[in-house]
This record gives sequence, C-alpha cells and structure tokens, in this order.
Amino acid sequence: MSRDLEGRFRDRSVARDLQTLADMIEIWCEGHHADRERPPLQSEASGLGVYRRRVRVCEECAGHLGYAEKRRALCPKDPKPFCAHCEIRCYRREEAAWQRQVMRYSGPRSMWRGHFLDALRHMLETFRHRRRRPPGPSNRPAALAGNPGRGDSGQPPR
Ligand code: SF4
Ligand SMILES: [Zn+2]
Repeated sequence: MSRDLEGRFRDRSVARDLQTLADMIEIWCEGHHADRERPPLQSEASGLGVYRRRVRVCEECAGHLGYAEKRRALCPKDPKPFCAHCEIRCYRREEAAWQRQVMRYSGPRSMWRGHFLDALRHMLETFRHRRRRPPGPSNRPAALAGNPGRGDSGQPPR
C-alpha cells in the first residue's frame, strides 16, 4: 500500500465514513448471508486499525467493502457529498448498484444500531440535493450523458 493511501485511510472523516459503511454492509450480510461463514474482516483499512471494532462479513461482502474502502480513501471531493449526489460517480456500475441495495436495506435498520444521526443527516442532505437540482435528465453534465457501458460516471472503472 502506498503512503498516500495509508495517509488517506488515517484521515478522520474517511475512517468515520468507512465505519458507517462497514456497519451497513454487516447488517446486509447478517440479513442475507446468515448461513455463511463471517470471519473478521481482513482488508487494507482493517489492517491499519481504521475500524473501531471487528467487522464480520462473508467473503463476498468483504470484497465489496474492500473495493469501497479504496474508492472512499481516494475520493477527490472535500467535503465529500453522498456518492448518489456526486457527478463524478467513480464506482463501477455493478458496485454502485450493489451498494444502493445495501443502503436501501440497511439504512432503516441502522437507525436502531447507533446510526440515528447518520440517517437524519442523509435525509436532510437528500432533501437539500433535490431542492438544488432542477428536474429533468437534461441537467446531467454533458460529459456524463450517453455513456452506459462505463458506469454512471462516464469514467473507466478503476
Ligand atoms: S462517487 Fe463521488 S463522492 Fe463517491 S467516492 Fe467517488 S468521487 Fe467520491
Ligand atoms: Zn455477506
């Protein structure tokens, strides 16, 4: 791992976001993969002690979380918006779709697991984002239009 990436993992806001994400993925994994083995996560971020506690997810979910760790650490946005509100959309399309379904499932359930304020923050930012954004697909940045094969971002998958 490069020093840059290591430094990004140690950033407080990166660590906080990753903890929230790991909690959401854990809730998803418990609900959908209860019959699988869920050993303690072994990832680049967990190896650096980014998570406050042991994260337990199955191998498949660990792969998704590992991918998201890097995307979050290397995010060029500061302050970072919710990915759904970002015009860059650096996630691969299938990873973005996977994470959306996780959030839909785990978001409401996470409110009773210490994420009440995160859920509130999410609702408020979504509300503000919708008010700022004029309606209609024509408002997508031109560079992002008509690029169905490369994720929503129009950028090659990383
Ligand atoms: S989609 Fe946007 S906000 Fe989300 S990690 Fe990528 S660049 Fe950052
Ligand atoms: Zn799982």
